[in-house]
Amino acid sequence: MTDLVLSDSLTAARRRLEAALADAGRAPDAARLLAVSKTKPAALIREAWRLGQREFGENYVQEALDKQAELADLDDIVWHFIGPLQSNKSRDVAAHFAWVHSVDREKIARRLNDQRPAGMAPLNVCLQVNISGEASKSGVTLAALPSLAEAVLAMPRLSLRGLMAIPAPAQTPTAQRAPFARLREALEALRARFPDAELDTLSMGMSGDLEAAVQEGATLVRLGTAIFGERRRPDTND
Ligand SMILES: *Cc1c(COP(=O)(O)O)cnc(C)c1O
Repeated sequence: MTDLVLSDSLTAARRRLEAALADAGRAPDAARLLAVSKTKPAALIREAWRLGQREFGENYVQEALDKQAELADLDDIVWHFIGPLQSNKSRDVAAHFAWVHSVDREKIARRLNDQRPAGMAPLNVCLQVNISGEASKSGVTLAALPSLAEAVLAMPRLSLRGLMAIPAPAQTPTAQRAPFARLREALEALRARFPDAELDTLSMGMSGDLEAAVQEGATLVRLGTAIFGERRRPDTND
């Protein structure tokens, strides 16, 4: 992808988010763009940064660490870990990311809390919810969500910020909205239950369903393909 194409696609993604927010009757700054850069080279991330993008999402720990090392001079870049989280990778995630979107069990939360380096701000956490109820998918069930949230809120090195979901693909905009509405309602219920928590984040919406997610209150949309183009390498997480 050339620089020219990246600037076009990033501009188009920003306009698309602006239009979706306007259609939903929401403020222009009510949601922001997370650029999902998995499988894409560090040079392309640097180019997006030069074009003003600051938040990037990565799925694979080692790949992300390699790119972070190459981009260490970009000191205001914000790294989000959005992929499946394995216990043996939690130390690297705790030390090298500002956000994690894929916490779905207490054991992994406790490891991240214990491993977050003392000199760093608390790690921002979204709990991943299995919102479509698919047996094979990661994510906490809606039934188990309140007790997991309560456990994470008690961990001093984690800052619970909200919820994330990757719904099953749906054919129509109406069908796309239903799981996003459930995630929004789940966040509202947590806010009512834990009024002192800073629960301000709904991480939902990707290249194929951004509009439906924004209609239902997304505050952080995770766009990969729409910004960086198709991924060549097959990946297991989408
Ligand atoms: C890959 C990925 C995305 C981006 O998907 P696109 O369809 O390319 O926009 C968003 N969220 C997660 C968790 C992903 O793994």
